[in-house]
Amino acid sequence: MRVIFTDLDGTLLDAATYSFEPARSALLQCRAKGIPVVFCTSKTRAETEHFRRLTGNEHPFIVENGGAVYVPAGPLVVRPSGRVRGGETSPEERPHGRTANGAAPHGYFRDPVPSAERVGDCWRIRLGKDYAAILRVMERLKSATGGAVRGFHDMTVEEIATRCGLALDQARLAREREFDEPFVIERDSDRVAPARRPVRRNPQGEGESPEGEGAEATPEAAMVQKALSIAAEDGMHVTAGGRFHHLHGGSDKGAAIRRLMELYRGEFEDYTSIGIGDAANDLPMLQAVDRPCAVARPDGACDPVLRAGVPGLEFIPDPGPRGWSVIIHRLLGTG
Ligand SMILES: [Mg+2]
Repeated sequence: MRVIFTDLDGTLLDAATYSFEPARSALLQCRAKGIPVVFCTSKTRAETEHFRRLTGNEHPFIVENGGAVYVPAGPLVVRPSGRVRGGETSPEERPHGRTANGAAPHGYFRDPVPSAERVGDCWRIRLGKDYAAILRVMERLKSATGGAVRGFHDMTVEEIATRCGLALDQARLAREREFDEPFVIERDSDRVAPARRPVRRNPQGEGESPEGEGAEATPEAAMVQKALSIAAEDGMHVTAGGRFHHLHGGSDKGAAIRRLMELYRGEFEDYTSIGIGDAANDLPMLQAVDRPCAVARPDGACDPVLRAGVPGLEFIPDPGPRGWSVIIHRLLGTG
């Protein structure tokens, strides 16, 4: 069986408009062939569920950069199709959400999901740290930086909407954090001078201060350094995303995918994973899959962190959902 793990922002969703329209027919083909498409995103559970509804997706999903894995629990759930270990009847031959003998299965997978808690209509595998613990570290960050650091928790829904280019109802869903706090470092001239050079990113996407002879730490780079060391004291991490820095408890997309892959591998034979992403926070995901693919950024380029850090990366020079569609058609031999 094949499973597709995909990023959302800038990959399945257009970076500016959040539209998946160019990928609609490719999504339908995956559905028709019973190929699970697993969303693996920095978005919150509430936002991800919105896009699952819009795309008719009924498969597990990974939120907040690997903060948690959600697996549909039933009672009516779609099951992945593929050759099941132990010669059991293929789930695709079963009626929706029923085992061969008519009994309700445990959920999306045949066996119970280990170390999971029931949350609504899903099983949740929690990998990140609690939001309350993250907010306590945010408070220390704020006081250590003279209030220059501001997270989603400090912003109104209107401000989040403006900063992200989201509609208000979407911004409201983006604020429902569980495992990760996006934050900005204010660059107001009365607070922090604009950085004279960009903050460098290491392959894990974490902020580093500029290097090189004569390089001086810019105010923003110094703030990032301070944030990194304060976060580290509590075993937390600061990662650079497209629009924001993120404070989180050390989980990443790769660790979350590996947990989910164990469940697929435990149940299905000839399992293959495909990963599709566009940016540095997808690096751990693309390193974890059998077939890593990247779509172009809006300017047509491949993210340099992915190009350098993912052996055998397949790069598609079309951006976002157009590139996504090309990858799926190539995968299915229909393009
Ligand atoms: Mg992305």
